[in-house]
Amino acid sequence: MKTIKIALDGPSGSGKSTIAKILSAKLDILYLDTGAMYRATALKALKLGVDTFDEKGVLGFINDLKLEIKYENGKQQTYLDGENVSDKIREPQVSMAASNISSLKCVRLKMVEMQRKISETTSCVLDGRDIGSYVLPNADYKFYITAGVNVRAERRFKELTEKGYNVDFDSLKKEIEERDYNDSHREFSPLVKAKDAIEIDTSNMTVEQVISTIMSHIKE
Ligand code: C5P
Repeated sequence: MKTIKIALDGPSGSGKSTIAKILSAKLDILYLDTGAMYRATALKALKLGVDTFDEKGVLGFINDLKLEIKYENGKQQTYLDGENVSDKIREPQVSMAASNISSLKCVRLKMVEMQRKISETTSCVLDGRDIGSYVLPNADYKFYITAGVNVRAERRFKELTEKGYNVDFDSLKKEIEERDYNDSHREFSPLVKAKDAIEIDTSNMTVEQVISTIMSHIKE
């Protein structure tokens, strides 16, 4: 049976995961949030006290990393060493650590291998930074989702405060800018718009408008 693979890339807070969740439900296909995998790896380093830039230190645990992605009631759950860390990996300090650790080649190679395996035999939408350019270069559809940095910071601020986190808007915006810089300047598999990706600037769009734009391409 023919499978359909959709790549959604873009900078932090551009709305990729919201879009991917709705899209996967609409098309009845798997959704893989690849950022969760980098976040769980960063959490492991934080737990072990390993510096997230220390390639030697990270190499010490990456090959035996007990990271599992499971689907429970249709929702992705991330397990680290047998523990469900799906909420823990959303904590603000894990975001920056994930951005740092994701620049290490040994981490990316391990994550990409897992992502390709999970998505190999099934129709799916993957969201991340390098899906269209590196993980699934032959994806059927590639979208590059962007938004201005203020809009993205406002969205993250709302999301985190609704979850009860006490965050400062300016620091959050600064963190997003730093993650953008890290993600687009790393040597191996940086954040780039794949040549054949369709760019959608969501700054002034509702979620429904973004979904219908994407669906209009998929129907073609
Ligand atoms: O998407 P999310 O913000 O959860 O991702 C956390 C971090 O993981 C990002 O800042 C980015 O550095 C990294 N990441 C990546 N490649 C992906 C997905 C996420 O480098 N495919």
